[in-house]
Amino acid sequence: MALPLEPLLDTISARIIAAADELTALDSAIGDADHGLNMKRGFEAVQAEKANILAKPTGEALKTVGMTLVMKVGGASGPLYGTLFMTLGKELPENPTLADIGRALQASVSALKARGKAELGNKTMLDVLGPVASHLESGSASFDSVRALASESAKATVPLKAIRGRASFLGERSIGHMDPGARSSEIMITAVCDVLEGRS
Ligand code: ADP
Ligand code: MG
Repeated sequence: MALPLEPLLDTISARIIAAADELTALDSAIGDADHGLNMKRGFEAVQAEKANILAKPTGEALKTVGMTLVMKVGGASGPLYGTLFMTLGKELPENPTLADIGRALQASVSALKARGKAELGNKTMLDVLGPVASHLESGSASFDSVRALASESAKATVPLKAIRGRASFLGERSIGHMDPGARSSEIMITAVCDVLEGRS
């Protein structure tokens, strides 16, 4: 399918901006209460840059989204989400299948692991992005199964102890809270599913 870039960027931006207070509340429990604000600032900048982004071919457009996020989000999540979009821009073919999206997302997950020195199970965004990438790659994914997996995976970070990121400073006290980056990843994945399925 040809990627509907403008609706994708609009829906992701709108959902992240609308979730800013929720993401900040999650980050206030196990971080420094800025994840919602960071992400909101990043996607407002993407919206401000939209004409320039959409004038480019899809791969270049996604790389520009990534660079905008690196520059504007800040914190730990800015370089990581920036790397995610830049890698997608490099890896996605022109008319990707869901399995192609899975392969590109898996390449992004590898790039994020290297950049953040994190593994699955460390209570980060990787705990949503990794399982969703593997599921998409399997070729048996549906939009419903991807949405359900993203939601379950974000919830599954609640009982984990953080090993990476600011939340790791809390040690055992990070247990019992959802990871903010896992939740923002769930929101973005759900937005992508909704747009590609024509629900948004
Ligand atoms: P900061 O922690 O610098 O305040 P944010 O609050 O914007 O940045 O983002 C925090 C989120 O970033 C965490 O919830 C986690 O999902 C993600 N994160 C932090 N460090 C890492 C890492 N090393 N690898 C993967 N994700 C990480
Ligand atoms: Mg924070």
